[in-house]
Amino acid sequence: MTSTSLDHARQQLATPVSRLRGVGPRIAEKLEKLGVLTVEDALYTLPHRYEDRREFRRIARLRDGCHEVLAGEILAAGEMVTQRARRRVFEVIVGDGSGQVVLKWFHYRNKDWLAKRFPLGRTGVFSGEVKRFGAQREVHHPEVELLGEEQTLAQYQGSDPLAFGRILPVYPLTEGLTQQAARRIWKQAVDLFAENIVTHLPAELCARRGLLPLAKALQDVHWPANEANLETLEEGRAPARRTLVYDEFFFLQLGLAMRRRGALLEAGIPFQVTHRHTKPLADLLPYRLTAAQRRVLGEIKIDLMAPHPMNRLVQGDVGSGKTIVALMAALLAIENDTQVAVVAPTEILAEQHFLQFHHWLEQLGLKAVLLRGQQTAANRRAALAEIADGTAHLVVGTHAVLQEGVEFHRLGLGIIDEQHRFGVRQRAVLRQKGENPHVLVMTATPIPRTLSLTVYGDLSLSVIDEMPPGRTPIRTMVVTENQRRHAFELIRKELAKSHQIYVVFPLIEESEKSDLKAATVGVEQLRSVLPECRIGLLHGRMSPDEKETIMGRFKTRQLDILVSTTVIEVGIDVPNATVMVVEHAERFGLAQLHQLRGRVGRGAAPGLCLLMKSLRCSEEGEKRLEVMARTTDGFRIAEADLEIRGPGEFLGTRQSGLPDFRVANILRDARILEEARADAFAMAESPEFQQGTSEEMRSLAIELKRRWGTRLGLASVG
Ligand code: ADP
Ligand code: MG
Repeated sequence: MTSTSLDHARQQLATPVSRLRGVGPRIAEKLEKLGVLTVEDALYTLPHRYEDRREFRRIARLRDGCHEVLAGEILAAGEMVTQRARRRVFEVIVGDGSGQVVLKWFHYRNKDWLAKRFPLGRTGVFSGEVKRFGAQREVHHPEVELLGEEQTLAQYQGSDPLAFGRILPVYPLTEGLTQQAARRIWKQAVDLFAENIVTHLPAELCARRGLLPLAKALQDVHWPANEANLETLEEGRAPARRTLVYDEFFFLQLGLAMRRRGALLEAGIPFQVTHRHTKPLADLLPYRLTAAQRRVLGEIKIDLMAPHPMNRLVQGDVGSGKTIVALMAALLAIENDTQVAVVAPTEILAEQHFLQFHHWLEQLGLKAVLLRGQQTAANRRAALAEIADGTAHLVVGTHAVLQEGVEFHRLGLGIIDEQHRFGVRQRAVLRQKGENPHVLVMTATPIPRTLSLTVYGDLSLSVIDEMPPGRTPIRTMVVTENQRRHAFELIRKELAKSHQIYVVFPLIEESEKSDLKAATVGVEQLRSVLPECRIGLLHGRMSPDEKETIMGRFKTRQLDILVSTTVIEVGIDVPNATVMVVEHAERFGLAQLHQLRGRVGRGAAPGLCLLMKSLRCSEEGEKRLEVMARTTDGFRIAEADLEIRGPGEFLGTRQSGLPDFRVANILRDARILEEARADAFAMAESPEFQQGTSEEMRSLAIELKRRWGTRLGLASVG
């Protein structure tokens, strides 16, 4: 295709749906709610299921639990009142000669109106999910299409060829838009505009992966051929959908591959390993690094010594010891007379990281500074000056560290503690704070591979897959309000064994005051139940010094119970603490709960995690607590989290940098993602693509730039 005809095709796709027949202002508004503004939007809004109308299912052959379509005659209709439940039900009995089925409505206003709607002897087409109760088959709240009084089924079918004798698409709809109307609209969009969607994938790839031309794929996915396999369709495995998903994944992965290549080609700061600081640190540490930590550190070292900037993701479960690995990397940077920026997702985490890094750096005669959101002008100025003149070796903060006005003397390494909140963009900003500094990203919870391939697809991956020795199993219990007493018994038992206890209250972001109040009340309650206990309170409005004092007292066993409004994430490692009580546990995210639980079970005695559930607990909250009670495997928890919340939420929505896929589903389409990624990375390495030796390769590059150029910052492609 020439470039002008390509342009023309693209323009066509931008045609507003309001140009289609049957789309007036009212319908257009409904479509807009579905995100369908242009015909291209319509093409890429796929049916969420299909309805088999190739032939009607005989009543005798209805399958329980399936969505079925049947045709039959109305044999009886009327309201019933069930004895036990005192519930009104409107019932219609339909027969087709092979058997009978009962249609039921539980919610309706007027039985007379319904009765009129179902005249005896009239034939209709009914669809819905079939349920079996004893010998009786029922369909509740079915969709109904009644034939005209004199009409035969054959005549009726002939009158709407779109609706019969085929597999029909079922679209996700909003109120006020019927399937019938939607089908007519989508049919037009497909018939008139699908051919404007041009395939840019190389022919060789399409042949090898069994992909269809995109236009054909779109036609098939909306209007499957009669001989299509319904099961394959419903499961999203039909070639048409596979093609669309592959296409979507392939271009993103190609973009990520090009980003990675770009980074590999850039000049960085090659470090030398002098052991000037790392050796003294190793001597200070009270333990030896695990094999996994050493392996990952080795991978990082190789990257840091290369003449190109590092771009590495370190993944490891809570408590696997990522911090010390990051610290070692930081020391390598400092040994090479460069500075380190540590970026955390929240103020609290930044503070906790600061405490941790400061603790070790101080002993090595090095300087760490904390950039806080709320800081006096004088303090901030002093910190900025130390960063600018190089006095500060390491800077910790939230993304504020990446803001304008923070000038580094010489930034050599950026460490991003993710909790999946930052994306590609933030890493790019960090890059610009120095001369291509090395970048190390840490994820606090493992994230499913398919997600990391999309969000961190341009990074090299290191996994700390081993826990430091001496971890003990943790028992987890969900405790309801009326089991509180029992929970206190368990706590007492642990206290009697001289073990220590954490109690955590949720952080309510809007108001630190009410957090504090909840915790203060909690402390009082504890004091009255456990008068002999020494209880300390740690909250967000304390200065870092005050916090350190309290934590110090807990560490040295001057306190039995530590109540905290903040996430006790790092800086605290008390093997003697065996119980983690989480109040209003349903308010925490799964990742957070997993983090919190990871604070216990670090000593010789087994750990106990009590998740206190409030009376008002959402269904989603229930699900999270269930997951926690079921498994301690961070990877499983992350996957469950992803399933419960969906990828966007899981990653922290907008900031996540996760692209919105129009068709693909990263959970369901993991296999296709792997294929597309392998192909895309191979493509990025091929001289044909790099040099644009053929029309096909040049067109691929142009399409890549069009789709991902801006978002991935791909300056050099095409
Ligand atoms: P995370 O990966 O969750 O950030 P941390 O870095 O906070 O984990 O480490 C968890 C705890 O394990 C810390 O208290 C740390 O001191 C300890 N730790 C780290 N590495 C080792 C090791 N090799 N042996 C024993 N303890 C370790
Ligand atoms: Mg950590």
